[in-house]
Amino acid sequence: MEPGLATAPQPWRDKCPWGSSPSPITPCSLSDVMSEELVKELQQQEASATFPHTIGIDTADLIREGAETSSDLLLAQMLQMEFDREYDAQLRREESKLNGDSKVSISFENYRMVHPFEESGSSEDEVDWQDTQLDPYKLDKPSANPKRGFAGKGKEITTKHDEEACGRRNTARMENFGPEFQVGDGIGMDLKLSNRVFNELKQHSYSERRRSAKIHEKKEHSTSDQAIDSRTRLLLYKMVNSGVLDNINGCISAGKESVVFHASGGSLADKIVPAECAVKVFKTTLNEFKNRDKYIKDDYRFRDRFSKLNPRKIIRMWAEKEMHNLTRMHQVGIPCPEVVLLKKHILVMSFIGQDHVAAPKLKDVQLSNEDMQRAYHQVVHMMQQLYTECNLVHADLSAYNMLWHMGKIWFIDVSQSVEPTHPHGLQFLFRDCKNVSQFFQKMGVADAVGERELFNAVSNLAITEENEVDFLVEIEALQKINEDHVQKCGKQSKLKTDEDPENY
Ligand code: ADP
Ligand code: MG
Repeated sequence: MEPGLATAPQPWRDKCPWGSSPSPITPCSLSDVMSEELVKELQQQEASATFPHTIGIDTADLIREGAETSSDLLLAQMLQMEFDREYDAQLRREESKLNGDSKVSISFENYRMVHPFEESGSSEDEVDWQDTQLDPYKLDKPSANPKRGFAGKGKEITTKHDEEACGRRNTARMENFGPEFQVGDGIGMDLKLSNRVFNELKQHSYSERRRSAKIHEKKEHSTSDQAIDSRTRLLLYKMVNSGVLDNINGCISAGKESVVFHASGGSLADKIVPAECAVKVFKTTLNEFKNRDKYIKDDYRFRDRFSKLNPRKIIRMWAEKEMHNLTRMHQVGIPCPEVVLLKKHILVMSFIGQDHVAAPKLKDVQLSNEDMQRAYHQVVHMMQQLYTECNLVHADLSAYNMLWHMGKIWFIDVSQSVEPTHPHGLQFLFRDCKNVSQFFQKMGVADAVGERELFNAVSNLAITEENEVDFLVEIEALQKINEDHVQKCGKQSKLKTDEDPENY
């Protein structure tokens, strides 16, 4: 969450991007609608079922005890409490981030959801459980602290520094340490903690909390596995709030480098947003992308920018690269997703599939012999179009990145696609050809030619070498000539990026 958001109204609370479950509509007659008795009855029902905004202390106590309950309302209250606590914790982090070491600080106290009394870790004030009616252990606790001050003639004056009172108070204050710090329940014990021991425990609880906050923060800043980080969530919320998307419905795929969601399209001023969209979130955990540097740092379209960028921006460049490549492909009519919007590391495109069901990958689909044959010829044609008309090599073409939809093949996943003049462009093309040839030959397509023949057919080169090793040597030599040529032409041949992702 960004700092300003803590104080801003929270529209996402009203408009949930994950969609709300539709409530069943019970048909009723007009006379029912007009009936006063029914109105009263409904009002009563509503009043008794109103979801409480704040959680009663009983619930808080139940949570502390870990009590089980079969009541849906209580469960909901407990969940709400957990949610509110998380919200408050985030608020606290924002507060300290904003204030830093500054002497003048801004407090977010008023925006907290959980009442300080219920918030075990939030208050440094004394909580004299001995004095509260609400403590569930009250009956089992030892006698209350004596009242402070002058108790009457002949009796001693009790100050707040009284050793016994102080010791008991310290024991009670341990409850403020936070739920992760186990302090025991102290039932039946008249525990008195000295100030020194209490202070040491307090210090320890603080450092523990800082340590776990750090771990949590690390997790929050990476889009690991299926989860997405808070920045990504915010960008997605913004897309829903601005109306580009109506809903983000669920995850289609969670790979090593990206997570893909299905979304219902909304509207954009100057562009038609398809009714079904795929939202590809490039993961901001950088490890996987390190292995892919070669695809981008040698791509002259991105080379200059690559060296100057920090890793987070490089991830955005992957998304940008996919956008440009898809746009080129779409322009020449290669079946592929159509770009809707790029926002930092999130690419919104048309959904290949129907009714929330993504089209199957070629490797998973059962095709008749004729369809498989047709698919093969289509793939060869698409590879040729990609090479000659788009000036691109897919560079990760396999049955995993081809979808079968509406009786034809669709290419996806082109973030790593490069131009043939890339220093490894022809090698990538050879690998693509090998994957395609081997797959279709295995599927029994009689027309499927070997990878060397396919390579020549796609690239219009006429490499004649009889074996793979020599073939690859020849490819390398050609690449070298290409590279020298590009270097000579320099920036003249460099493509201009027609769309700047930052402008969206
Ligand atoms: P990765 O780099 O993680 O392999 P892909 O672009 O291949 O990313 O997407 C992963 C999976 O998500 C695909 O195999 C496909 O099932 C699904 N997918 C991606 N884009 C779309 C789309 N536009 N429409 C439908 N499904 C898609
Ligand atoms: Mg893929």
